[in-house]
Amino acid sequence: MKLFLAISLISVMVVLGICIYKTTKETHKTELAVIVRRVLQLGFGIVMVNLISLTAENKTLVGLCYCVYFACADWLLFYLLKFSTYFMGKGEQFKKLMKIKIIYVILAADCISVLLNMVFEHQFKIKESILFGDELYFYIDPAPFFYIHYAIVMALAFFSIINLYYRAFNSPAFYRSKYLLIAIIQTVLVGMNILMTESEIDISVVGYVIEGVCIYYCALVYTPQRLVSKTLTQVSQGMTVGLFVLDKEGEELYCNNEAARLINEEKLVNAENVTLKDWCTGQYLDNDDEFTKEIIFFKGDDKIMLKIQLQRLIDGKKQLQGGYFTIDDRTKEYEKVREEIHRATHDHLTDLYSKEHFYSKCEKYITEHPGAELYIVCTDIKDFKMINDFLGTKTGDAVLRKFADMLRTRITGAVVYGRLGNDNFGLLMHKESFDEEAFIRESKNAFAESINKSSAFPAVNYIGVYEIINRELPISVMCDRARMAIRSIKGDYSKRVAYYDNALRDIILYEQELISELGDAIAEEQFKMFLQPQISVDGKLLGAEALVRWLHPVRGQIMPGDFIPVFEKNGLISEVDKFIWETACKLLRKWRDEGKTDLYISVNISPRDFYFLNIYQIFTDLIRKYEIPAGSIKLEITETAIVMDFQRQLELISRLRKDGFVVEMDDFGSGYSSLNMLKDLHVDVLKIDMAFLKKAEDEERSRKILQMIITLSKQLDMPVITEGVETEEQVAALTQMGCDIFQGYYFAKPMPVSEFEVLYAKHNAG
Ligand code: C2E
Ligand code: CA
Ligand code: CA
Repeated sequence: MKLFLAISLISVMVVLGICIYKTTKETHKTELAVIVRRVLQLGFGIVMVNLISLTAENKTLVGLCYCVYFACADWLLFYLLKFSTYFMGKGEQFKKLMKIKIIYVILAADCISVLLNMVFEHQFKIKESILFGDELYFYIDPAPFFYIHYAIVMALAFFSIINLYYRAFNSPAFYRSKYLLIAIIQTVLVGMNILMTESEIDISVVGYVIEGVCIYYCALVYTPQRLVSKTLTQVSQGMTVGLFVLDKEGEELYCNNEAARLINEEKLVNAENVTLKDWCTGQYLDNDDEFTKEIIFFKGDDKIMLKIQLQRLIDGKKQLQGGYFTIDDRTKEYEKVREEIHRATHDHLTDLYSKEHFYSKCEKYITEHPGAELYIVCTDIKDFKMINDFLGTKTGDAVLRKFADMLRTRITGAVVYGRLGNDNFGLLMHKESFDEEAFIRESKNAFAESINKSSAFPAVNYIGVYEIINRELPISVMCDRARMAIRSIKGDYSKRVAYYDNALRDIILYEQELISELGDAIAEEQFKMFLQPQISVDGKLLGAEALVRWLHPVRGQIMPGDFIPVFEKNGLISEVDKFIWETACKLLRKWRDEGKTDLYISVNISPRDFYFLNIYQIFTDLIRKYEIPAGSIKLEITETAIVMDFQRQLELISRLRKDGFVVEMDDFGSGYSSLNMLKDLHVDVLKIDMAFLKKAEDEERSRKILQMIITLSKQLDMPVITEGVETEEQVAALTQMGCDIFQGYYFAKPMPVSEFEVLYAKHNAG
């Protein structure tokens, strides 16, 4: 029997030894691990002294062993109590109790008392007994003092039992089993201990050791592991990223909620009609590498963007254990990014490419199609500003949108197209698919569909074409060239399409030279004022129109038609005009001094002057400076200038007229709203250009129109000047119609001032 007991004790010691060793591992360096280790070490000590006392034959040695045993029991129970309080909150009463030094004092005193038993035998005596046949056993015979030690031990056990039960019933279900198990073991042990105080063999030792091992297992091995896996499951279920785990054969091991949502959706397929689950397993088995891919899946018409990552699980021996996919549904982010990119690359009104994006798309197309013969086509809607002003920005927007639709759906062969800004659109087309007629026709249809028919606004667009010969040129330059072509036909009613070619390039170069020479020309007085006489019906010389000539030192005389449009484009015309106005006023002053007080001079005001100059200020300053009457200077303005900012111009004109200036409507009949405009606009003189009327095919019809205009202006009390009169018949016909004043080659061409003065002298003499 003794042998059996000894073997049991030794095996218990081995188990304890292993447990103690394990608590020293890296992962068990916590305070809890230290407590558990103490319990195990003390248990180990207890078992050891029990083993010694079992085998010892010497009574004193047995006594010593028992002393050590009881002392160890004190501390074992102390650590058990400590363990039971470990999981409590910081401020809890019990924990505080543990910190009270009195406990240590009591335990230390008890230890000393137990050890002193060696000398005084005041707690117990060692007795011998023959048990199980003939074997000699030692047991203790307790004295009354022993029960003090006993009470201390019991109190510790009791508190820790209460504590454990309290924990067990106040903890989440997951922890309950742990506390309950230890609490029950301890209850049984204490119970056994109480029952066995009188018996000769104390087997509670083994019980405490079992408890120690249980504590070790629950606290450091079993619970944490289960806790980890349980927590991980919970975490992965709650994740917004799908987790799909496979074993090494590609069979499903685990799948969190999000992955299940996607994987079990049979309608979710990729472009090759493969479901997500099949795709994942397929990739898993075929693909040795880990990867991250962004793949678009479809569910009906919906696009679902998945970011899928494959990771493989390799064990310590570098063997494949399995792998897992993380599946992240990035549809929302993807849509957002796509929307942002779309917004950045598209025009918000028409949804066509924006300028920069158009450029880069063209560039790409051109490099990808090295052999293709291509055109850059730019279009510009004539007087778009007026559509906005007269018909409202809503209509303006509708026109642009319709135009964009037209480019999208009806212009065949446009490989790239976009809105370059305002009313400018750009297209990249194959040369052979560009059809001028069709383009003009479709544009007309688009305008007709977007502009209310009753407004009868004659919207048209210009088309400029640049043939891509030099592919290295930036697209912006190509577009500039196409637009230059447009500029060359702006104002020409008969042309809609213009091509950029060498002739146009030469013109542009020529224009650039003129612009660069303007400064010197003004400084060196290369501009000269010519005068073209205006004659009354009865042949009297009334005055003259001032017409500018550029007497260029190298190029010779340049006509205004060759440089005025150039300077009008950039506003430089105002410099020329200011010079002519001042020259005219200076001349009027001179004439007055010479007694020619009846003559007047008409000066031209460019539409651009209204933008760049304070016209009212300049003219009032001029007549003050030269002390001439306002009526001796006549101001020729065109309809274009007025329609651009109708209300403001109306006010300006009425102010000028109030001050005595004579305002003439130049080139009347060349625009489109003439008759309508006369309703609100009051001018002093109407000036009609024969050239406009001559252009019309039906001469009889244009004669009727002329008659009507003259009659109307008479009724409005406005004299009519007809310019461009070249023949005697014209003079006769116009006189019959009631025209008051004439200007034209029939009477005289524009001439230098000196010549004009000679003519005037002749007139007066004759
Ligand atoms: P405009 O104001 O309509 O001037 C009349 C134009 O008709 C002048 O051309 C004149 O020489 C021309 N002309 C006069 N009688 C006849 C004729 O019987 N037959 C023909 N075929 N033509 C005739 P010009 O001098 O070449 O001026 C052209 C245009 O340039 C002017 O048209 C005017 O718009 C502009 N312009 C001229 N001088 C100035 C100026 O100092 N300032 C501004 N802003 N524009 C000017
Ligand atoms: Ca004029
Ligand atoms: Ca004119």
